[in-house]
Order: sequence, then C-alpha cells, then structure tokens
Amino acid sequence: MSLTEQIKHKAADLGFELVGIAPVEPVPELSFYRDWIEAGYAGKMAYLERSADKKSDIRQVVPEAKSVIVCAKFYHAPQPLSVEKEDRDCGWISRYAWGDDYHDLLQKKLFELIDFLQAEAPEPVLTRAYVDTGPVVDRVFAKYAGIGWFGKNTCIINQKLGSWFFLGEIITSIELDYDHPAPDRCGSCQRCIDACPTDALLEPYVLDSRRCISYLTIELRDDIPVETRAGIGNHVFGCDICQDVCPWNNRAQSTRDPEFQPRPGLLAPRLDELASLTVEQFRARFKGSPIKRAKYKGFLRNVAVAMGNSRNQQFLPILEELLQDDEPLIAEHARWAKSKIMTETGLL
Ligand code: SF4
Ligand code: SF4
Repeated sequence: MSLTEQIKHKAADLGFELVGIAPVEPVPELSFYRDWIEAGYAGKMAYLERSADKKSDIRQVVPEAKSVIVCAKFYHAPQPLSVEKEDRDCGWISRYAWGDDYHDLLQKKLFELIDFLQAEAPEPVLTRAYVDTGPVVDRVFAKYAGIGWFGKNTCIINQKLGSWFFLGEIITSIELDYDHPAPDRCGSCQRCIDACPTDALLEPYVLDSRRCISYLTIELRDDIPVETRAGIGNHVFGCDICQDVCPWNNRAQSTRDPEFQPRPGLLAPRLDELASLTVEQFRARFKGSPIKRAKYKGFLRNVAVAMGNSRNQQFLPILEELLQDDEPLIAEHARWAKSKIMTETGLL
C-alpha cells in the first residue's frame, strides 16, 4: 500500500469521513481570495487581511510545503433545519455550534495523523496542522483535494455528504499522490442566492460578509448596522439558510457522534431565557462551545435583535431591562428592538 493510501486509511480510522490531498501550487482561487479582501467583503475581520499575503501562497510560511492533506469531519446532527423550524419566539443557533467546539477535537485527530505520517514516511517530514487558522484558505485546498466543489453559497459541497462538515488541514513537505478537483455540480440552481435573507450572496460564489448573518452575529464586535437587523430574523449565532436549502444536503446522512449532538437548550432556545442569562451563566453554559466566540455582550446584542424581529409584546418588559444595561452595545440594540415591536404591533 502506498503512503498516500496508508494516510487515507488512517484518517478514516480516526473518524474523518473524507480525506483528500492537494499539491501546493498557485491556483486562480488564491488570487480571487486577495481580490475579495481588497473589495472589502471581509468586513472588519482584520485577521483575514493581515494573513492575505501568506494565504495567497502558503510557501511564504512553510517554504518546504509540497502537499496539503485535507480532512473533513461530518457534523450534521439528526434534527430539523432552520427553515423547517421557524418560531420567532425562539432563537436559532447555527447547527455547527450545537455541540462541542470542533477546533480541539479536529486538532487532536490531525496530530494523531501527523504522528502516523512521521512514523511511516521514508524520510523526515515537516508537518503543520491547521483548523480555521494559519495560512491555509481551507476551501480552496478542499476543492483541489477532491473533497467537494466550491458552491455558489461559498461552501464546499460533496456529492454524497453535502456541506455539513468541518475542515482541517496538514501541510507537509512530502510529495504524495494527488486527488483531482471535484467538478462544480451547482448547475443552473441558485436556491441559496434566492433564499439568503440579507442578500449577502452578491452573485454566484461571491459572499459579502458585511451582509451575512454569520458575520454579523459572530465576527462583528460592534453595532449591527440598522439596515441589516430585520433580515437577521431569529438568528442569535450564525445562519444555516444557504446550506439548508441546498439540494445536495437533502440526502445528507446524519452523524451520531456525541460531540455534535445539540447540548441541552441549544436547539431553538427561547429568546426570553437567553436574554436573562448573566455573564457568569453565559460562561458556564457555553464553556467548550463555539458560541463563546460571540462573547456575552455580542450574544445579548444578537438576542435583542432577534426579540425585535419577533413582534412579541411579551418581550417588552425584558427589553426594558436590557436597555438599562451598562453595556451600550446591549442597551442600544434593546432600544431598537423595543421600538420595532411597538411600531409593528401598533403601540407607537
Ligand atoms: S449564512 Fe445566511 S446570511 Fe450568510 S450567505 Fe448564507 S443565507 Fe445568507
Ligand atoms: S443551493 Fe444550488 S446553487 Fe446554491 S450551493 Fe447548493 S446547489 Fe449550488
């Protein structure tokens, strides 16, 4: 068995559903990434701008890099989709964030794969592992590693598994047998573009993060622009809509991995319950969860916006309390939410 085949078997043993290998070489998508940042579509994600040079050629960081091993871990828990469970009194948390933080889990598996590679390789090899970090534009290498094609919703889509998976990469100095890029199977479909509530998909394959609910509710630390708040609906952390409507996810199987099943209270939690969390309760409840990335004040900001979109007058006393909050970010969004409910229900 070749070293490439051994690596793929080992990755499968470690629980990765997909693994592919791409060569390190210039490809058009890497210059597109730079253009995308220069167009301002990354919003205030300054870390993306800072790493743009390195990401356009990973050899600036790892000069010896020859291959990227891309591993995918499927996380689709057997629960309803956001578009099937619309209850405006409840918030929606993105599917990927229902369970444990995937970074540690994937890193651990990648390190085990590295140990295996170093033990089996005929020569000393340099390796680096990344999960959402480092100089790798993961989706570009995932495409060239044959994991899936780059969909019009900008997710990597696998013909059999859909798009509900996390990606991790190992950059290595050893040459391996390379996979072929997956062909684009979006065809004439554009359901994701039509379904996006904030028109964040400007055209096929082009996302303006500044309009995307995932960016607005997770990455943005400041005020959410007023003109985008209504489109956020009941989302309090991330958004799944453009994946929910993708036909390639219709036939997606489900995972039974316990790490990715919804923690208690994360599947469509009631907004009034989230709004009453103290800082300490927030920290305790989301320990080890991706949700802690939003931080307390960002999360409460999101909850206030979702309440404002609910038209539910019963939330007014809670919003009244939130708008007294010492944190201006929470207070301002609560003020907006109160005013929106009162206007839309005829109280103003
Ligand atoms: S995640 Fe939501 S807001 Fe962002 S592009 Fe997809 S549908 Fe639009
Ligand atoms: S919804 Fe259609 S256009 Fe969008 S990513 Fe899926 S297949 Fe492609």
